[in-house]
Amino acid sequence: CGIVGYIGFREAYPIVIKGLKRLEYRGYDSAGVMLCDGNELKIAKTKGKVSDLEEKSKAIASSKASIGMGHTRWATHGVPNDINSHPHVSNSGNIVIIHNGIIENYEPLKKELLKRGYTFTSDTDTEVLVNLIEDVKKKEKIKLGKAVQIALNQVVGAYAICVFDKENPDEIIVARLGSPIAIGVGEDEFFIASDASPFIEYTSNAIYLEDEEMAIVRLHKPLKIRKIKDDSLVDPYIQELQM
Ligand code: GLU
Repeated sequence: CGIVGYIGFREAYPIVIKGLKRLEYRGYDSAGVMLCDGNELKIAKTKGKVSDLEEKSKAIASSKASIGMGHTRWATHGVPNDINSHPHVSNSGNIVIIHNGIIENYEPLKKELLKRGYTFTSDTDTEVLVNLIEDVKKKEKIKLGKAVQIALNQVVGAYAICVFDKENPDEIIVARLGSPIAIGVGEDEFFIASDASPFIEYTSNAIYLEDEEMAIVRLHKPLKIRKIKDDSLVDPYIQELQM
């Protein structure tokens, strides 16, 4: 169970894959990667090791995409297989999520979404969350960050998540409750990871999100951190990592 994300000017694929390998010690049964190339989403995912993912993602490995997210899964809801692997994509095909943790109340949320016409391809709790985010975003006609926040306030459970929206491809929304997540702050680039090991070679500036915090990680903009519950702004505390 690990998360790696990148948004900046470098090629994202090698950063994500190398980062996932650094997080292999955390244990996992599946792995996946998403790249956003222009306005095209490229996703590869598989049961197995990061080396299996490399095999399966050969067709997208040479992508110049400078936005990407990667995941190693430790299955909690749904067996380890290709379909249940992350990333998961919302019904519209626009919103992409990777998630570590458990959405405990995914069943009632899923029932409600099914009633509203949503369909599901996996057995995961995570696919419920990404469609809940989409539903809130459409219903309220709001930006992704706000939709993530409202959705998370309906969720019982634990999570570290990265959420990406093809319609707004210069940002990744990050949130945490109970699972660790760090943001590496470079110049015109950001790294996101379960711990700092995937990005320490690129930057020594890291922000560790606290529980119930979310960050809007947007290119060419200062990082914004908010409390998920009461929407108050938090001053980002940047730590200097020992290289
Ligand atoms: N609950 C999610 C799943 O089963 C995420 C598991 C994880 O932490 O990797 O897919």
